[in-house]
Amino acid sequence: MRQSELFTRTRREAPKDETSKNAELLVRGGFTEKIMAGVYALLPLGLRAHQKIEAIIRDEMNAFGGQEILMPSLHPKENWEKTGRWGTYDSLFRFLSYYSKIEYALGPTHEEIVVPLVQKQNLSYKDFPVAVYQIQTKFRDEKRAKSGLLRGREFSMKDLYSFHTSEEDLDRYYERAKEAYRKIFQRVGLGHVTYVTFASGGSFSKYSHEFQTLTMAGEDVIYICDKCDVAVNREILEDVGKSCPECKNTSLREEKAVEVGNVFKLKTKYSSPFGLKFKDEKGEEKEVIMGCYGIGLTRLLGTIAEVHHDDKGLVWPESVAPFRVHLIRLGEDEGVRKVADEAYEELQKKGIEVLYDDRDASAGEKLNDADLLGMPYRVVVSVKTIEKKSVEVKKRDEMDARLRKLSDVVQECL
Ligand code: ATP
Ligand code: MG
Repeated sequence: MRQSELFTRTRREAPKDETSKNAELLVRGGFTEKIMAGVYALLPLGLRAHQKIEAIIRDEMNAFGGQEILMPSLHPKENWEKTGRWGTYDSLFRFLSYYSKIEYALGPTHEEIVVPLVQKQNLSYKDFPVAVYQIQTKFRDEKRAKSGLLRGREFSMKDLYSFHTSEEDLDRYYERAKEAYRKIFQRVGLGHVTYVTFASGGSFSKYSHEFQTLTMAGEDVIYICDKCDVAVNREILEDVGKSCPECKNTSLREEKAVEVGNVFKLKTKYSSPFGLKFKDEKGEEKEVIMGCYGIGLTRLLGTIAEVHHDDKGLVWPESVAPFRVHLIRLGEDEGVRKVADEAYEELQKKGIEVLYDDRDASAGEKLNDADLLGMPYRVVVSVKTIEKKSVEVKKRDEMDARLRKLSDVVQECL
């Protein structure tokens, strides 16, 4: 994409009301725009990164048998009354229709929709396990929304729900879900700072597991066991005797973290109120056993920005970068224009995603923008480089730029 055609602009200053680093960088870079507290729009560059994250999550969910669906955001009150959550779910947005005087909720999570939906399929024991997921916008009336994209009142989430005929089957599936989650966090560049964390299991299970990413911007406190590479959420630290639930080690390391994902054994908590049952081999009716598995995509985007930046701007992991290469033309020289245009064509021909800074702006402005936007490879074409019949390439996370032949750079960026 030619940067001269991009409708967004970079900004030198962070917006005054923005206190979080992730939103500061993402707004300054024109990835996102704040509409109000906890509500952000995704602009072309931000949307591209979001779509990369989406593709990785979709890939891993499909790989372990999830079927993608899309449920509505507008929820009927009666479903939420059935589970007793209409009155108790703190962050539920509830509102009244002006015309019909009927009350609705805006979905913060989808157990109330997915359970009756699966029930309508009249499944027999042979059909299980069943797993459905969606990537969709959630709404939560969060008390405080000051962490930028980490805590929104509207945000995107992947939520998967699994349905089983026995607890053993749920247990097996749950372990596979944890594996898939581990892969996702590795693939988006957070594997090295993300811990499987023991958390409260609610009234139905001993524990649930959160995926917590270390960052000072996080609102959670976790205690890491370096022997097992797992952590305990502060909420349950007392319950586990201030020790690692796996090896009983008591020398745990305290860190701040953000919950990027969560897996939970719901068992019959939601199948029961809706009467979701199946007939077993003997024709006997039994309650369906459930699990649920969430990942916040908007929060992941914010978390990647928190983890991957330096004092000049973002440093995108290659897997989620909006563009792989930021091609920069320095100066208005005809020869430079020609070589830069050719480089743009050449890179794209090889399927490499390129943001081409073809604007008439100063070298300083362009190079600062490249640092702020943080694409993995910066390729510069200038009078100096064409004299040497080469281009200058620099990785965003390296200090030194190198002069190389364009064909070699194409190979390197593939
Ligand atoms: P938290 O304790 O941080 O509020 P939660 O326990 O309410 O999170 P879940 O209900 O498990 O979160 O939601 C699944 C995932 O959705 C979370 O792991 C997180 O990644 C994301 N998420 C939850 N709330 C928000 C929010 N307000 N803004 C952005 N992402 C969110
Ligand atoms: Mg919450």
